[in-house]
Amino acid sequence: MSIFKENLSLDGLRALQNERLKKTVRHAYNNVPQYKKKFDEIGLVPNDIQTIEDLHKLPFTTKEDFRQNYPYGMFAVPMEKIARIHASSGTTGQPTVVGYTKGDLDVFDEVVARSLYMAGARPGMKLHNAYGYGLFTGGLGIHGGATKLGMAVIPVSTGMTDRQVTILNEFKPEVICCTPSYAQFLAQECRKRGIDTKDLALKYAILGAEPWTESIRNQVESGLHVKASNIYGLSEIIGPGVSQESVEEQGTGSYIWEDHFYPEVVDKDTGKPLPHGEQGVLVFTTLTKEALPVLRYWTNDICSIQYDKNSTLPYIKMSTIKGRADNMLIVRGVNLFHTQIEEVLYKVDKIVPNYQIHVNRVNNLDTLRVDCEVKEGVSVTDEILMKQLRAEIRMKIGIACDVKLVSPFSMPESQGGKTQRIFDTRDVY
Ligand code: ADP
Repeated sequence: MSIFKENLSLDGLRALQNERLKKTVRHAYNNVPQYKKKFDEIGLVPNDIQTIEDLHKLPFTTKEDFRQNYPYGMFAVPMEKIARIHASSGTTGQPTVVGYTKGDLDVFDEVVARSLYMAGARPGMKLHNAYGYGLFTGGLGIHGGATKLGMAVIPVSTGMTDRQVTILNEFKPEVICCTPSYAQFLAQECRKRGIDTKDLALKYAILGAEPWTESIRNQVESGLHVKASNIYGLSEIIGPGVSQESVEEQGTGSYIWEDHFYPEVVDKDTGKPLPHGEQGVLVFTTLTKEALPVLRYWTNDICSIQYDKNSTLPYIKMSTIKGRADNMLIVRGVNLFHTQIEEVLYKVDKIVPNYQIHVNRVNNLDTLRVDCEVKEGVSVTDEILMKQLRAEIRMKIGIACDVKLVSPFSMPESQGGKTQRIFDTRDVY
């Protein structure tokens, strides 16, 4: 499909990126006082940036820049040119406010349409959109891209699970878009209502907004009878559709739409760019944004990037997100992401995919406890199960942890938004 620009060679892509980068840097410097200030402080002028090789000269942009300029100070166009305003979910503090011109919304539609197509969606199919509609970029972002692709959108939004199950069963969408935890929950809820998901029309699930693992993929694919792929994005860069995994190349990473968003991976402590394949913080520079040009945005998301030599597209791929740099737990000196624990839990048959990680400090010692919800019919005092979980988690992460089993349906379920898995109460000591 031509929207991928698959005829673009790597040289052609570089030339396009360089030309767009120069324009973006000038635009940001001339129209956003915060960028001018940061350039001036280190004696940098827009002409110093001629190609992507010069990117390392630019300072990083962080959530702090957005917070200091809340709500509209990072916008590079007058308000009359703004066609839509969104805000990030605020997972790590005050939400950042983002704006789009009509041109930006066209780009948003284009990258989401590409992503949906890559995930298996086709014109004429129906999309059950269970991403939140509202300030969150997910709902309307997916909506616009699906419309551009020529799909029929069912704008379900989050929550009201009974209604979601009815729609899946009666409206017969072929594609669903939601968070991975909500897809797991929906599979479970269909089962509970005696619905055989083989009878649904669903073929593809496009999952994002929070980190997930291969074990979740297996559960969603068997639970909903779909092929599941990963969509990634963040409000500051555009929203969902910054990258997308191909449903035909599952497990090999997600294509980054590099003609619009230039990626780097840098060391989380030194900020130095890392070679392809090494894991660090993902940093993006937007190449076509008008309302909100963003230079070297420090996403805080941990992953690696690498070209896939088997691919026919010129775009680089990113691995799955291991977690956020600020969500990396350091427990008794060991670095830990919740996805590592998740990988263990989701392979154990007697528990359902719903858990919480509690970190505390008692007598100056970090304590780690994982609460897991058991399946119906399994006892919460099942000593053998607890012992198995403690041993497997310890083997995976290298430190001891306590395990608490909780009864079925007692833990808060995903309502479609981002699920909080980590409860770290150590800083109150
Ligand atoms: P907030 O930072 O407040 O959550 P957003 O709503 O813009 O703001 O969410 C963007 C963030 O969501 C990303 O930076 C990333 O941490 C997470 N995210 C989005 N898609 C994925 C995905 N497919 N895998 C892992 N994390 C994701």
